[in-house]
Amino acid sequence: MKEKIQHAEKLNTLGELAASIAHEVRNPLTVVKGFLQLMNHDQKKERGEYDQYISLVLSELNRAESIISDYLTFAKPQFPKIEVFSLSDMFYDVLALLNPLAVKQGVNLHINVQIPLHLETDQNQLKQVFINLIKNSIEATDNSGTVTIHAQKEDDYVCVQVIDDGKGMNKEQLARIGTLFYTTKDRGTGLGTMVSLRIIEAMDGKITYKSEEGKGTEVHLLLPLNLERSHSMSARA
Ligand code: ADP
Ligand code: MG
Repeated sequence: MKEKIQHAEKLNTLGELAASIAHEVRNPLTVVKGFLQLMNHDQKKERGEYDQYISLVLSELNRAESIISDYLTFAKPQFPKIEVFSLSDMFYDVLALLNPLAVKQGVNLHINVQIPLHLETDQNQLKQVFINLIKNSIEATDNSGTVTIHAQKEDDYVCVQVIDDGKGMNKEQLARIGTLFYTTKDRGTGLGTMVSLRIIEAMDGKITYKSEEGKGTEVHLLLPLNLERSHSMSARA
C-alpha cells in the first residue's frame, strides 16, 4: 500500500455536522413537497402522466433516506450511552445488517476478532462507524472480492483493520476522503467517512487510511481501552 494519510486536523463536532446533515435532508424533502403540491393542484391528468413525477419523488426520498442512514443507522449523537460490550457481538450485529449488501455485490466478508475483547464506549455510535467503513469497502469491491475485518488488542488500544481488495483510491482521492459531501458515487452522500471520523475522534481514537488504486484499501482504527478516556466522549460528542 503506497498512499497513506492521517486525519489530524481539527474536526467539526458531531453537533455541527448534524446541522449540515439536517440542511442536506431538507433539499430532497423540498423537492418532494413541490412535486406533491403540483400533482395535487393538477388533478386533470391521467394516472400514467404522473409516472415521471413519482419516480423523481421516490429517488429524492431515497436520497434523504441514505443521508440519514449514513449518519443515524444506530446512533443518536446527542446522547451518548456508555456501556461495556463485546466487540465480537458488536461485529455480529453489524455484519448481519450488511450481509444482504455483500451477497448482492458478490463480496466475501471475513471476520477475525480476538476473543474476549471488550470496549467501554457508545456501542451504537461505534456500530455506525463500522457500518459506514465496511459499506464503503463492499461498495468499492467487485464480484468475488473480499472484505476482511481484524480486531486485536495492542497495548492500551484495540486495533481494528478493515481491508478490501477493491478499486482503491489515488493520492488525490485519498486526500479528499472524509471531507463533507465528498463522494465519487452516483447515489453517494459523502457523509459516511466524515461521520465516522467525528465519532472516532470523540472516542479519542484514530483512523488512518492506506490505499492504492486498483489494489484496495486498508482502514486502521485505534480505540483506547482506557476506560476513563472513553468516558470523555460523553462530554464532547
Ligand atoms: P459515500 O459512500 O456516500 O460516497 P463516504 O464518505 O462514505 O461517502 O465516502 C466518500 C468517498 O470515499 C467514496 O465515494 C469513495 O470514492 C471513497 N471511498 C471510501 N471508502 C473507500 C474504499 N474502501 N475504497 C475505495 N474508495 C473509498
Ligand atoms: Mg459511504
